[in-house]
Amino acid sequence: MKLDADLLDRARGALVGQAVGDALGQSYEFGRPLAPSAEVVMKAGPMFGLGEWTDDTDQAVAIGRAGLAHGFSSDRALQSAATQFFEWQKSAKDIGIQTSSVFARIMANEGDPEELFREMMQATRDYASAHERHHGNGSLMRTSPIALGFLDGRAGLLEAAKSFSELTHSADECWQACYIWSEAIRGAVLNGNYDGLWHGIDQLDPVSRELWRERMKAAEKTDPFEFNPNGYVISSIQLAWAAITQTAYEGRYQFKAAVELCVRVGDDTDTTAAICGSLVGARWGDSNIPAEWSSIVHGWPDYKVDDLRTLATNLALSSFGN
Ligand SMILES: [Mg+2]
Repeated sequence: MKLDADLLDRARGALVGQAVGDALGQSYEFGRPLAPSAEVVMKAGPMFGLGEWTDDTDQAVAIGRAGLAHGFSSDRALQSAATQFFEWQKSAKDIGIQTSSVFARIMANEGDPEELFREMMQATRDYASAHERHHGNGSLMRTSPIALGFLDGRAGLLEAAKSFSELTHSADECWQACYIWSEAIRGAVLNGNYDGLWHGIDQLDPVSRELWRERMKAAEKTDPFEFNPNGYVISSIQLAWAAITQTAYEGRYQFKAAVELCVRVGDDTDTTAAICGSLVGARWGDSNIPAEWSSIVHGWPDYKVDDLRTLATNLALSSFGN
């Protein structure tokens, strides 16, 4: 596989697409479904400013930086992500229910990344055993950078997607969704198509493989508005996939139509549009994301769009050993 300008454009599209979907969806979060003809506009919301992304992309950036510094397959990368999450949550404007419940259980010595990581994992397991519904979309929404760390080979992607999910979301459905979506993004960056999603599903155990095939095939034929509510990981990934596969456009038109559809469906709009934007952005590249949106996105840690582009480029370059 050749690392060329088009491939780097698609790698940047994964992170920029995620951030644009997030910033577009935030002002519509928990709103009612919108009519198909309703205009979807980038605007300030009750908590976030115009073009500002939210916890989804904050955490994706933390994971991307951790992977770039230490390699996604290392414990140090997981410890770095845990440390960044913990630092970030002290001033975060909004954190998902499951993730904030995990953080609330941590009493660790913050100066010790290993201890913090261990406590976060324990808190996540405790949350899972205390709550029947622990299948939130809070790890799927931040999985995009992991795909960029494995462009030169699939080995290790499943374990990395699983480990980073399990920092806060340990359910099988959560890490499997993270892995499938990461494979989809990886394939979109490498090959410019969506086949990676099915390659990812094929790597799972036979029972999970059948389940996921059914879920994603069903998403292609189901009215996207049926995927509301969508705070749970399965309805989130199904909506994101429905929005992409049921959008009869290509290039910049598909990017815009797919993320707008996620927003129109309502409920957890920043997260569904972020998940969708990460894949459709990877498929068509940063250059096909509307510049009037991408030029104004910004968020933690004082990043603008060019910082996301640099992070994505560096992850892709490091993946190819450059
Ligand atoms: Mg959010």
